[in-house]
Amino acid sequence: MAPGLPDRVDCAHLADDAVVLERVYPLGEMPRLQDLLADPRGSVRASFAFATLGGGRAGATVAVEATPQLVCQRCMQGFAFAAAGSSEIEFSSGLAGSSAEATGAQREIFATEEGRVSLRELAEEELLLALPIVAACSTPQTCGRAPTYQVGGEIQDMPSDRTRPFSALQDLLKKT
Ligand SMILES: [Zn+2]
Repeated sequence: MAPGLPDRVDCAHLADDAVVLERVYPLGEMPRLQDLLADPRGSVRASFAFATLGGGRAGATVAVEATPQLVCQRCMQGFAFAAAGSSEIEFSSGLAGSSAEATGAQREIFATEEGRVSLRELAEEELLLALPIVAACSTPQTCGRAPTYQVGGEIQDMPSDRTRPFSALQDLLKKT
C-alpha cells in the first residue's frame, strides 16, 4: 500500500462528506483469499463510494475488479478468472440485527470497530463475493484431463524414487 493512505477509516466522517476512495491491493495481502489462489501475484482495484443512508446511517458502495489465478476444482490447474463485483454496504456499530431488518436484505452489513473499518478488509470481502463458489476453468479441451496426468506422473515418480536407494546401494557396493 502506498504510504500516507490510511487503511482504517472513519465511516461516518467519510459518509458525511460523500468521499470516494480508490485503492489497489496486492492479492498476496488478502489472507482469506490465499487458499483459493493458484498464484498470489496480481492485484485488486477497489473503489469505495461513501454515502449517508436514511436515518443518518453510514454506508458505501464497494466495487472491486481483479483477475486472480484460481485453482480449477475439476482439473486442479491454475486459471485466470476475471472477477468484478459491487455491493451496497451499511456500516453497523455492532448492534446486530436491528439495522439489517430496517433496511431489508439489499445491503450487506459490515461491522465497524468503534466506527472504523479496514478498507482492505472491505475489498477482500467484496472480492470473495465476486469469486465462484466452485472455481472451474471452463476449458473443456483440457479440463478434467489433468488429474489423469497427475496420476500418471505419480506412477512414474514412484519407481524412480524406488531406484534411488538401489543406486545408492550400488555406489556403496562399488566403494567397498
Ligand atoms: Zn479445469
